[in-house]
Amino acid sequence: MTETPPVRLAWAEARIVEREAVTPTVARFRFAVGWAQPHRAGQSVELRLTAPDGYAAHRFYSIASPPSQRGTVDLLVALAADGEVSRFFHEAAEVGDAIELRGPVGLPFSWAPEDGGPVLLVGGGSGVAPLLAMLRERAAAAPAVPMALLCAARTRAEALYLDELEARARDEAGFGLVLRLSREGEARRPDRAAVAAALALLPAPPARAYLCGSSGFVEAMTALLLDAGVAPRAVRTERFG
Ligand SMILES: Cc1cc2nc3c(=O)[nH]c(=O)nc-3n(C[C@H](O)[C@H](O)[C@H](O)COP(=O)(O)OP(=O)(O)OC[C@H]3O[C@@H](n4cnc5c(N)ncnc54)[C@H](O)[C@@H]3O)c2cc1C
Repeated sequence: MTETPPVRLAWAEARIVEREAVTPTVARFRFAVGWAQPHRAGQSVELRLTAPDGYAAHRFYSIASPPSQRGTVDLLVALAADGEVSRFFHEAAEVGDAIELRGPVGLPFSWAPEDGGPVLLVGGGSGVAPLLAMLRERAAAAPAVPMALLCAARTRAEALYLDELEARARDEAGFGLVLRLSREGEARRPDRAAVAAALALLPAPPARAYLCGSSGFVEAMTALLLDAGVAPRAVRTERFG
């Protein structure tokens, strides 16, 4: 029996068509992409910057826009202290620039309406980016699927698209938000009580739970979810660290 070789995605130049500040340290870049198939919510792209001497830096960025936004994808780039690629984006990248991308990648960390729910989303900092794509896709194509988001950020100003998330929680039946700020108000990291509050927003235990953020955040939250009785097979994780 002959095996089908894995499909290798080709690098292609994608032009930046919009740039917008989302928070003081996160910027949104909209890229025009000529993909034959749209991505699935939650997937990412691989990006390559090549210097004149041939040195290349590769990084992954989650797609924050839903598949229904055809022809373009939004990446939310958080500025990392002394970060090579994120600094380039914050200090130099402009509308009109062409950047090498390949994707979409990361099928295991993706959700589509036919996957159903209930779905628990747990995001820390810029780890909310791929979860935004899922929430936006739910609103566009599957508003009956129950979803809850446990969103952790340091301050309100640093939480990604908090206005949008709060408006969705207010206006969209079947979507609920639990926000935990670690450096403002009660200054609490997400804990057992936050997980319980998010689970209580769902009509049944989650069939899928998507966790995204730094390695430490994902590890801590995975343990809390399993402690709360979420089925291990439901849990999918993406680490930005
Ligand atoms: C699947 C996936 C999706 C992702 N999605 C996103 C996203 O949507 N948004 C996002 O902002 N990021 C995302 N990331 C993270 C992203 O890929 C980069 O890691 C991030 O932008 C930092 O890259 P950088 O080049 O700016 O920093 P780097 O140059 O890689 O540095 C990162 C940090 O490490 C420190 N550092 C570097 N070298 C050393 C060293 N030798 N010793 C000690 N410290 C060092 C730097 O000071 C900096 O603070 C994702 C990662 C993965 C794997």
